[in-house]
Amino acid sequence: MIEEAAKLLARSRFAIAFTGAGISAESGVPTFRGFNGLWKRYRPEELATPEAFRRDPYLVWSFYKWRMDLIRKARPNRAHYALAELEKMDILKAVITQNVDDLHRGAGTRNLIELHGNIFRVRCTSCDYRENLKESGRMGEFLQDKELPKCPKCGSLLRPDVVWFGEPLPRKELEEAFKLAERADLILVIGTSGVVYPAAYIPQIVKETGGKVIEINPEESGITPIADVFLRCPAGEAMEKLMDRIGRLL
Ligand code: NAD
Ligand code: ZN
Repeated sequence: MIEEAAKLLARSRFAIAFTGAGISAESGVPTFRGFNGLWKRYRPEELATPEAFRRDPYLVWSFYKWRMDLIRKARPNRAHYALAELEKMDILKAVITQNVDDLHRGAGTRNLIELHGNIFRVRCTSCDYRENLKESGRMGEFLQDKELPKCPKCGSLLRPDVVWFGEPLPRKELEEAFKLAERADLILVIGTSGVVYPAAYIPQIVKETGGKVIEINPEESGITPIADVFLRCPAGEAMEKLMDRIGRLL
């Protein structure tokens, strides 16, 4: 199976990757389904919604500040680094991610499309104000502040610049992702349940336009039925083996 995946990748002309929460599990960032501990009483699907934010912005901000703090301490893992390496080798042309954790960027991926936003960015609920807390250097101060965060421009409530359940995806990113999928002759799908639309259309487009689908996931997903090669394995281990085989083929 690994051998077959390595051959397909090495022979591909325009390969792309599509990732979900599972690729970051080995970095210590829990998937929503793998949630436990402090937030056990809540379902993430009930916190990551516009309704929840309207009802109780304090609760939703506590959840996001907790995740921001957890994610800023997380480091990219072997799978994130392998994708960056495949891009350097000019095998992989882009990474499309549903993750908000910045770990692909941290690993050095350059052509990155973030379909669900980024947890380190905030935006105003009224005006066009946006801020990247990593870049502005205000993250520590922001996380310590016990008050609800307010817009420095107009004083309205700030919100995380991520896509919540029930919200549309950013148009530019989605169009770009669909274009890449139409062009790709191979897609490497890693750690996604493949049930959240419209993102889950991306591997389907590749398949329908004659491309190959390689999937890495320790469990079957919504993508598995269309996968040409399914590697039932955690992302880090699978990518390490794959890189080793590709290295021997080239
Ligand atoms: P999801 O729907 O993408 O499902 C996670 C998938 O990862 C599952 O299919 C699971 O079998 C698989 N998985 C678990 N461990 C893995 C491993 N070690 N290697 C490879 N695959 C593994 O994600 P979700 O948790 O249901 O989240 C729903 C939405 O919230 C998605 O858009 C997701 O990207 C986002 N989210 C993002 C992050 C993040 O940025 N790291 C974390 C949680 C949720
Ligand atoms: Zn504002």
